[in-house]
Order: sequence, then C-alpha cells, then structure tokens
Amino acid sequence: MIYYVEDETNIRELAIYALKQAGLETKGFPSAEPFFEACHEKVPDLILLDIMLPRIDGLTILRRLREEPRTADVPIMMLTAKGSEIDKVTGLDAGADDYLPKPFGMMELISRCNALLRRSHRTTQKSTDRITCGPISIDLSAHEAYAGGVKLELTLKEFGLLRKLMEDQGRAFSRSQLLRDVWDTDFMGETRTVDTHVLTLRKKLNDACDGAGEYIQTVRGVGYRMHPDTQGN
Ligand code: CA
Repeated sequence: MIYYVEDETNIRELAIYALKQAGLETKGFPSAEPFFEACHEKVPDLILLDIMLPRIDGLTILRRLREEPRTADVPIMMLTAKGSEIDKVTGLDAGADDYLPKPFGMMELISRCNALLRRSHRTTQKSTDRITCGPISIDLSAHEAYAGGVKLELTLKEFGLLRKLMEDQGRAFSRSQLLRDVWDTDFMGETRTVDTHVLTLRKKLNDACDGAGEYIQTVRGVGYRMHPDTQGN
C-alpha cells in the first residue's frame, strides 16, 4: 500500500489512478492530519509526499516520519515543484529515499515507485529469513520448506511459487503475474503451467501435513493466494 499526500486534487487523483492501473494500491490524502491518522492504523510500504501543503509541509512530515520508529524505515519519495525545493530536500538531507520534480510523467512515477518498493522488499527479506503460514514454513536462507514440521521436496519453481505466495499472504496473484515473477516470462499461453505447479504443490503439502494444501486458495476469476485462515475471510 502506498500513501500519497498531495493537496492538489487533480494531480493526486491522476497519480492514484495511474498507480492503481499499474497494480500499485494507493491511498491519497489532501493534508498531513488524515495521513498521520492512517499511518497510525497501518504503516504503508511507500510514502509519496508533496512539499507545499496546508499547515504542515512535506518536509516536516518527512522529519516526523523518520523520528517515529514505526515509520523510520518506510521508503519516502518527495514530489517537488520547484528547483529550490529540490535543493532543500537534497541539501537538508532530511532522509528522503528519492525525489521527483514536478511536473512528472506517470510512467516515471510508477517506475520510481516500483524501484523503491523492490529495494525495501529486499531488505525486509534479509532481516526475516523465515516465513510461516499456518502449518507451512519456509526458510529463505536454507531454501527449505516445511509443512507440519515435515521437510518438503520441492522443485525450484515449486519453491519459488510457494515463496511468492507466502511473502504476500492474503494477496491474490493472477496466473500471468506469477508467471512473470516466478517463471520470469510474460508468455500468456503458459498460464496452465501455474495451475499444474499449484496442483503438485498442494499435493506435496497435503502429503506432508493433512490439509496444508488448503492454504493455497483458488481465487475465482483471478488466480491464487495464500491465506493464514483456510476459510478465507
Ligand atoms: Ca501542494
């Protein structure tokens, strides 16, 4: 989830639309107050900040986010209107991860967001090398997977698929998305490959631990997801 603070409604809505089209779920806020409230409830994966904002400006928001332990490590991109503002952001070294001068193109915004998300995802993965979902667990550093304590014999792709689903539990992935991320191909004709692998993966999970295969759920019309509650939600 991306949070975006921008007081100009047109820019905000256009950017949110573009980011959503690119598969990046984004919530917009016209000012700091509702944004901080939302952060209190849920810390986002990435924050986009305009600088000129009513009452509390973007640089002040940035500083507060960095001081607060919960948000200290969240990647932040500043969207700056003027050259002098860019100087401020970089000169003050207030802790932004990236900055993008206005007016910016939507493709540029999307690719910068993706880059920041990838970068922070990598660091998260490093710090936690074990992921669990119900009776299933994977050890990323050892490249091993278990169900009910029984070690699974998985192929490289099966492991990659399980890992992908485990890393983002609750999120439904389309077959083409899984193909792209696990198989590294965009060829749509191969989506059946995903189904076959899910089938064998479920069987291996169930063989190791009865019912473990149910944690990989089929999402009708979308694809698959891993869910810690097998009843769905
Ligand atoms: Ca503004």
